[in-house]
Amino acid sequence: MNEYDSARLAAILEFNGVFPAFAPEKADIILVNTCSVRAKAEESAIARIWDLKKLKIGNKGLKIGVLGCMAKNRGESLLKDLPFLDFILPPDEYQKLPEILFHNPAPQTPFAKLSNKYSAFIAIQSGCNMRCAYCIVPYVRGREQYREPASILEEIEVATAAGVSEIVLLGQTVNGYRYKGLSFPALLKQVANIEQVERIRFISPHPIHYTSELLDILMNEQKIAPHVHLPVQSGSNSVLKKMKRQYTREAYLNIVQSLRSFNPLYGITTDIICGYPGESEQEFEETLSLLQEARFDGAFMFAYSPREGTPSASEKELITEQEKKNRLQRVIDLQHSITLERAKLMLGRQEIILLEKLSRRNSSEWVGKTGNFKKVIIPAQPDFREGMYVDCVIEGIRGHTLKGSPIKKQM
Ligand code: SAH
Ligand code: SF4
Repeated sequence: MNEYDSARLAAILEFNGVFPAFAPEKADIILVNTCSVRAKAEESAIARIWDLKKLKIGNKGLKIGVLGCMAKNRGESLLKDLPFLDFILPPDEYQKLPEILFHNPAPQTPFAKLSNKYSAFIAIQSGCNMRCAYCIVPYVRGREQYREPASILEEIEVATAAGVSEIVLLGQTVNGYRYKGLSFPALLKQVANIEQVERIRFISPHPIHYTSELLDILMNEQKIAPHVHLPVQSGSNSVLKKMKRQYTREAYLNIVQSLRSFNPLYGITTDIICGYPGESEQEFEETLSLLQEARFDGAFMFAYSPREGTPSASEKELITEQEKKNRLQRVIDLQHSITLERAKLMLGRQEIILLEKLSRRNSSEWVGKTGNFKKVIIPAQPDFREGMYVDCVIEGIRGHTLKGSPIKKQM
């Protein structure tokens, strides 16, 4: 979501005649987009911002602004803690940017700037109406607002006209999208009807919005990629209840089972929080056993981080930081072995890879993704271009990354 917001901000700047500098030292305006979801995210943003202070010595006109969730979460106190800042701007006030920087109040909101030629993020929903007990997002991003379908489809048309063929729909509970009777599955159908769209993804869906209508379209619409990032957070029903996630372990595993019985290679990734306040060893082991059962293709795994103002932050933390770290490491070790096993299932398969970029490590290799979201490296061919679809056979694994070999097309 922040990446998309940054791309929108970049579009607003370009609309006002301002273009990217090649390095912070060369810039006249530096905007730092921030995240507040865990304490660590805020701490590293603050360290980065302090680093920028010295640039004001060589460039007296330099303006530094802090945007994003930390601007909302910390508000005016940020200006006191970092007195060299010129302004802060929370996510719900981005339309004020031209006025702040250019004294140009024109209400211009161009579509987000495309950051590559193959894939475009398209926000369809902002905010979040859930109240997961640990999460700061509803406080910094506000209530859910759904974007008008016509505007969504227009932004997609603009992206596809520029050559993009993969569309990633964004929202905090993206599959809860609705607009005047139009449901999320119905929106997916409309996106799939755009001829130039070849792959559709969405992030992040919430398990409570997995209706049979949604499952139906996931299984029947060829353009929807067979991968879902479906955060589970915990495998323990008692912890899920305290977290106010509104689903059970069994309900979650039912979704996994539906997708995998349709396609055993369906890519499923997740988010896990370890060491939630009061999480017992047994409850933690239920998360480990859920990983064994669900066999995720990958996971983002975090130690619980108390966020001031959220309900769980007022609960006494009885688990030591060391124990949280230990649990996190145990989850990471188990998931890594599962990720590797899932990758091995891809060996020998023929897959269509969307080429993303030349490998940074080795310029004779390209990096791309399968439909089920596996990263693949492929030996470069003279005709390879960003955004091309290439037929490959998966021949090996390096680390967790697949190695593919292009199939020569018969003339
Ligand atoms: N809307 C998405 C999640 C957005 S936040 C969803 O509900 O699925 C991204 C991830 O950050 C969450 O899935 C969660 O795993 C993690 N997270 C959020 N708050 C956290 C906290 N206080 N401590 C640790 N991890 C947290
Ligand atoms: Fe946070 Fe829960 Fe909303 Fe996700 S659904 S953003 S975890 S409150």
